[in-house]
Amino acid sequence: MNGEIISIGHELLMGEIVDTNSSYFAQRLAEAGVAVRWFTSAGDDLGDICEVIERALGRSEVTITSGGLGPTSDDLTREAVARVLGEEMKVDPGLLAWLEGVFKQRGIAMPKTNIKQATLIPSAATVPNPTGTAPGWWVTRGGRHMVLTPGPPREVQRMWEETIGPKLARITGAGVVFTRTLKTYGITEGGIDEMLTDLFGKANPYLGIYARPDGIHLRIISKAPTRAEAEKLAAPLERDIADRLGAAVWGTDDDTPASKVISLLAAQGRTLAVADAATGG
Ligand code: AMP
Ligand code: MG
Repeated sequence: MNGEIISIGHELLMGEIVDTNSSYFAQRLAEAGVAVRWFTSAGDDLGDICEVIERALGRSEVTITSGGLGPTSDDLTREAVARVLGEEMKVDPGLLAWLEGVFKQRGIAMPKTNIKQATLIPSAATVPNPTGTAPGWWVTRGGRHMVLTPGPPREVQRMWEETIGPKLARITGAGVVFTRTLKTYGITEGGIDEMLTDLFGKANPYLGIYARPDGIHLRIISKAPTRAEAEKLAAPLERDIADRLGAAVWGTDDDTPASKVISLLAAQGRTLAVADAATGG
């Protein structure tokens, strides 16, 4: 399947923010078996967004967009898709109830402008957004897929992990990719290579080794029809590496030396005081 990534927002074209969503999607789409052929960007202009949406629907089997799903009048991605497909946006009662619930939980009245975040068109299904107020759309038309996501990278990534990635993997038959990074310190790259020689060179789970500023990282990559199965496939390898390297493994995945120090202090009920003086920061 071929794919296209569209980023929407005036601030991208002004160079004010870097388009990290597109590079995130490019990596995830490749893992899901979609060959990305185009990156497109458009500002918050209805005509321009319609043009890129129409072109993507004409040439790409899978298109994913980010941005323009906010509540304000310059958030126009939904409107553009509805216009290109000739469909009408209607408030979905289930989505509206959910959105009102989000505002209630935050203890603020829902502004009227947010109602458009609870709309759908007949060709679209909801992509839940557990950390924001803009649900995504999954539009299916003539065997083609167009997925709309909001702008904030945290929301986008959670939506990918929980809904978009698994659904796309089922469509392409590529399966779900699971990765686990083990971070080590104190043994050289060559030393680790020797200790784990028999574990390298396998396809699934795959083991990679990378030298980074905070030590040598070992990356396990496994693939299976579901995330749970992919995780299960990686687990014995992770245990084996942990057994062999012992205390040289200081963290996993997003752990940083600083976050590890803080969690070790917290676990022991200790505190850390930091003073800045004389150095001018
Ligand atoms: P929007 O949903 O278009 O209102 O975007 C909300 C915010 O998400 C923006 O102000 C940016 O901080 C961020 N954002 C939007 N698009 C991108 C992108 N392509 N890459 C990274 N961040 C983005
Ligand atoms: Mg925007």
